[in-house]
Amino acid sequence: MKKVIVVGGGPAGMVSAIIAARNGHRVVLCEKNNKLGKKLFITGKGRCNITNDCDMDHLFGQVITNSKFLYSAFYTFSNDATIQFFNELGLKTKVERGNRVFPESDKSSDVIKVLEKELNKLGVEILLDSEVISIIQEKNRFKGICLKNNTTIYGDAVIIGTGGLSYAPTGSTGDGFKFAKTMGHYITKTSPSLVPLVTKENWIKDLQGLSLKNVKITINDGDNKLYEDFGEMLFTHFGVSGPIILSASRFILPKFNKNITLSIDLKPGLNENELDKRILKDFDKYQKKQFKNTLDDLLPKKLIPVIIKLSNIPEDKKISEITKEERNNLVKTLKALTCHIIDLRGYNEAIITYGGIDVKDIDPHTMESKLVSGVYFVGEVLDLDALTGGFNLQIAWSTGYLAGLSIN
Ligand SMILES: Cc1cc2nc3c(=O)[nH]c(=O)nc-3n(C[C@H](O)[C@H](O)[C@H](O)COP(=O)(O)OP(=O)(O)OC[C@H]3O[C@@H](n4cnc5c(N)ncnc54)[C@H](O)[C@@H]3O)c2cc1C
Repeated sequence: MKKVIVVGGGPAGMVSAIIAARNGHRVVLCEKNNKLGKKLFITGKGRCNITNDCDMDHLFGQVITNSKFLYSAFYTFSNDATIQFFNELGLKTKVERGNRVFPESDKSSDVIKVLEKELNKLGVEILLDSEVISIIQEKNRFKGICLKNNTTIYGDAVIIGTGGLSYAPTGSTGDGFKFAKTMGHYITKTSPSLVPLVTKENWIKDLQGLSLKNVKITINDGDNKLYEDFGEMLFTHFGVSGPIILSASRFILPKFNKNITLSIDLKPGLNENELDKRILKDFDKYQKKQFKNTLDDLLPKKLIPVIIKLSNIPEDKKISEITKEERNNLVKTLKALTCHIIDLRGYNEAIITYGGIDVKDIDPHTMESKLVSGVYFVGEVLDLDALTGGFNLQIAWSTGYLAGLSIN
């Protein structure tokens, strides 16, 4: 039996503590907040998208940074195993659109409850309001931790699951990066990721609050296509957000410059010809009306004035007077509503942190540091990131599980 100290009561830390305790170790979990899982509570808009019920290829495919590093972690504790783990803890789950897995109750608090219950059942000592300020090592071997309240706790191994830098009020303030750096680890460049985008054009502000469900977006860097996706997006007072925009931000991030554009295909189900025919049908229906009164069947109300302006067709023009060229302009606007991306929002609106502890100094079969023995890193503190859909939590569960299992 070893004494294992877990730093961070987030998803990665909690699962690692459970598994280490199940393996017969004495476990102490230190969390700097006055409760566990503060970030987990706000995941999935309070519903917690626990994981994704997809096949392994898709699971790896949705991890953008260092997916190969996760081979052992994902195969040791897969998405299927994660669902089973939660079901066995008494949490019923359901699968929604895009294979997203949620608690049946739609409450993230239920996810935290079952984890906390299991930690207590296994006798894990949970120290809340306990901020770890440093890691003690001797001759490249872990010795103990120091808490802010001047307490020192000695142990045989430490699992560090302190998260990244996003949504700092939840407790993720980059402490693990500092600990790792002190131990000689390299921290790759960090930035906010899965984050809303700031756009240049003023017309975007007129669309504030409008959510579009089945649109296709393309992100271009000049003539070079960076990303394409289909799904839901949202207009805000500063630009754009919503699931497909957040994912797109991950691909803009490393290449960000002033030439990046977002093009929205408002009618992805129709090609230009088909859309033209569809518009002609509407024009026929509203033949005695002015242009501005003919788009109600095609577009949400809020979009109509913007599309009219961008298509350069006078709003009061009679339908019978609209030329083929003008109709062409309208089709092109609907198929490629384009704006410029001038910035990405900050850490306080970022779902995850891009970058982190370089995985080249971490053993992928155990999550142990190659530089200091007895030190393990799990979850978002590592340079790993995935797209939205439950994949980032899966990284936390799987790496946490593997570290907990590897201490012997
Ligand atoms: C708004 C939002 C919604 C999200 N929704 C989803 C979703 O639905 N599905 C999904 O897959 N992912 C989602 N994510 C991402 C997901 O929450 C993270 O990937 C995940 O929480 C990372 O887990 P972690 O345990 O590594 O770190 P964290 O969850 O950040 O936990 C780290 C813990 O360590 C504690 N800590 C930090 N430093 C110290 C210290 N020095 N001493 C003691 N304790 C410390 C912190 O207080 C915190 O409790 C969302 C993120 C956000 C911000």
